[in-house]
Amino acid sequence: MENVLRSRRVVTPGGVRPACVAVDGGRIAAVLPYDTAPPPGTPVTDLGDDVLLPGLVDTHVHVNDPGRSAWEGFGTATLAAAAGGVTTLVDMPLNSLPPTTTPAALDVKRAAARGRVHVDTGFWGGAVPGNEEELRPLHDAGVFGFKAFLSPSGVDEFPPLDPAGLDAVATRLAAFDGLLIVHAEDPGRLARAPQPAGPGYADFLASRPPAAEETAIGTLLETVRRRGVRAHVLHLSSSGALPALAAARAEGLPVTVETCPHFLTLTAEEVPDGATEFKCCPPIREAANRDALWAALADGTLDCVVSDHSPCTADLKVPDFGTAWGGISSLQLGLPAVWTEARRRGHTLTDLARWMSAGPAALAGLRAKGAIEPGRDADFAVLAPDETFTVDPAALHHRNPVTAYAGRTLHGVVRSTWLRGRRITDHGTPLTGPTGRLLERT
Ligand SMILES: [Zn+2]
Repeated sequence: MENVLRSRRVVTPGGVRPACVAVDGGRIAAVLPYDTAPPPGTPVTDLGDDVLLPGLVDTHVHVNDPGRSAWEGFGTATLAAAAGGVTTLVDMPLNSLPPTTTPAALDVKRAAARGRVHVDTGFWGGAVPGNEEELRPLHDAGVFGFKAFLSPSGVDEFPPLDPAGLDAVATRLAAFDGLLIVHAEDPGRLARAPQPAGPGYADFLASRPPAAEETAIGTLLETVRRRGVRAHVLHLSSSGALPALAAARAEGLPVTVETCPHFLTLTAEEVPDGATEFKCCPPIREAANRDALWAALADGTLDCVVSDHSPCTADLKVPDFGTAWGGISSLQLGLPAVWTEARRRGHTLTDLARWMSAGPAALAGLRAKGAIEPGRDADFAVLAPDETFTVDPAALHHRNPVTAYAGRTLHGVVRSTWLRGRRITDHGTPLTGPTGRLLERT
């Protein structure tokens, strides 16, 4: 074995226990009793009471590179990920130029990422009107699935699908067992809602009503029932859609659901006027909605928690909810933000690992990721779960120091992050060059 990590608190799929984790060839070779004496000469890292978590898997990241690399980029995003305990991310197909809607565009994106990523990085493809013939070639080129919008995406080059277009894409994907991931807000409901303008958060919230999510999810579930496509609901905000989703799963439909740190930790009531760093679509809703999302995580209706890190330059966050760019930057903060609220509500580190590592790894079919068990990659986050820190945006690796978490005190300090058996960051400082790999669906 190459090296051994020893901790009093190793988070395994079966629970938290003292253990020695033996690493060989970048993979976990064995999870051994705590007192195991490794062979003479084997380097041992004793983590004491610090927690050894499986490295987080964040399947919802907008790197925006190439094309909008002033907003973020592969170097900065993946360094932020590493500093935050995320060892694998999957990049969204839009906001970059070109969007990842053809194999040629995927090649452009891979060329932009190659040699620059600090964590393992994969790519989603996009399903837009007119690219039906590109879906199978993109699948064969290794994308993990296909993102579609049902309402305007915010960028003209990535238009939404109408119901007929959604049906056609679902039919195509079902033929090769592709995965459809959906931004589910209904355009009709959004058009009939009051339009947002000005600095007041209540007006913005009224412009993105829960019914927009609930109607779009209803449309999606009907499509899944009709076509048999595997589907995933992105960034669920409205708890009103949970009963339909739970019923669909009880019925056996192949549907999974994610939510995001901001929906679980922030509330509409606390957003100050003009504070558009809190703007995202669908929006952060009221405290009671947040409670219902936590209940759905606990009962398994929600499968995973991923960041939807969607940054922009500071000048686009004007203090007007109608015109500001929508997106929340949290790639480096997802782990402590969710843990802060989870521990307060009595959830465990095992829950955290399930929601933020195993769940997203399963979504993307990343069988080498997502758990501390023999055969998986030796990707770890070392966490001091009881220590606190106050978020200083300037100390984050995100390209633009804008975040809704600024000034908040969070529990959970990421001491170090390990990728395939090598420590890549120490207290947020990189220890190596970009050693991440580009991943393909297997
Ligand atoms: Zn997104």
